[in-house]
Amino acid sequence: MKAEFPKAILHFDGDSFFASVEQVMDYRLRGKPVITGGERGAATALSYEAKRLGLYRGMTLGQIKALCPEAIIVPSNYVSYAIYANRMYSIVRSYTPIVEEYSIDECFADITGLDAQLGISYEEIALRIKKELEDSLGITFGVGLAPSKTLAKVASKAHKPAGFTSIPMSKIQEFLETLPIHSVWGLGGASGTHLTNAGAKTAWKFAQQTDAWLTSHRFGKAYRDIWLELNGYSVKPLMVEDRHQAGSIMTTRTFKPASKNKWFILSQLSKNVERACEKARKQGLEAQGLTFYLKTQDFTYHAVSMELTVPIANPSEIMRLIMERFDDVYAPGILYRATGITIRSLKAHEEYMPDLFGEREALGKRSQAFRVLDQLNTRYGKHTMFLASSLAAVLHTEAPSQHQRKVEVKKNAEFSVGIEKKHKTLKIPYLGLAH
Ligand SMILES: [Mg+2]
Repeated sequence: MKAEFPKAILHFDGDSFFASVEQVMDYRLRGKPVITGGERGAATALSYEAKRLGLYRGMTLGQIKALCPEAIIVPSNYVSYAIYANRMYSIVRSYTPIVEEYSIDECFADITGLDAQLGISYEEIALRIKKELEDSLGITFGVGLAPSKTLAKVASKAHKPAGFTSIPMSKIQEFLETLPIHSVWGLGGASGTHLTNAGAKTAWKFAQQTDAWLTSHRFGKAYRDIWLELNGYSVKPLMVEDRHQAGSIMTTRTFKPASKNKWFILSQLSKNVERACEKARKQGLEAQGLTFYLKTQDFTYHAVSMELTVPIANPSEIMRLIMERFDDVYAPGILYRATGITIRSLKAHEEYMPDLFGEREALGKRSQAFRVLDQLNTRYGKHTMFLASSLAAVLHTEAPSQHQRKVEVKKNAEFSVGIEKKHKTLKIPYLGLAH
């Protein structure tokens, strides 16, 4: 099976996840049109029954009631959704340690080689995990199996709800031929339009292009990665993080040309740290752990993880910690092409009692300064003020197209806010059938 699956990547996607969790927790909601998001006045998630009635995400409660008076609208209960999400991750993790918690209702898993170990095919493994998820959680999942993350995403969407789809190398064409380019993961917006304008209207048209075509249309690395993945090459690594985390924020920057310069690379990292911390502060969150990494020219990652004694969202403090460990990942003479940081185990900022050594109080004062900085940057534009350690990155003035920047706030980063501010009740979730 090696030829059909050089890598075996699974993608799991909970069907109508929030609404399904509500239906599992309250039998009165089953078989009914259920909408979550009552607290914000608009639909966040809809049960299949609601979707069938023509209701959709983002509709206001007024619109929903006018169109469908029998719809049941409930407030979001992120604490329960998080419990279900964590249960999903841990079931998948019982098969392989290489699991990416992509969002609250989706994850990727790399099961390459597990077929030989278990003596069953990749399809059988996928179906076994799917069944265990559905039996334990009481909700259905779309599952995709393919040689790359991008194709696994195509597969899990192919038959909704509760579908399982496998895309081995020999079936790539069949699945991509009629797939609109905008339906490909990462090509939903302007990039899909650029490809359409260049003549690649379907995923298959794009997959069939040559390296020279990409170069002549100036499609850079982000496009090239997706193009490789559509052709069955796995180039997007799974972002494996700690379990039991409350939420995380990841930022990365790719730079071109690749650099050996320690101070330049540090300044790139410093920019990432600033952006991650700014996101965290906007949500009132602080990190209890972090992982930073460097990616070399030949795509290997070197990472350092740390736990923090006091929760922080203060970039200069985080840069101080990173400087202490930077030489663990950086080697002189090696070319690096990207840096990134994940701040994780996010929790809502609390006014604590001063701790034993006054450590928190001192950090609190500095956090005040960063809140003022956020206000200044909002009022006068980005980069009005920044850390001195980010200077080289801010001054780095290559064409914007040559920078690929990514800020990814995992959806579960919002949990802690939800827990503190909105949700006073915690229903007891359904935790599976007794076996
Ligand atoms: Mg889903």
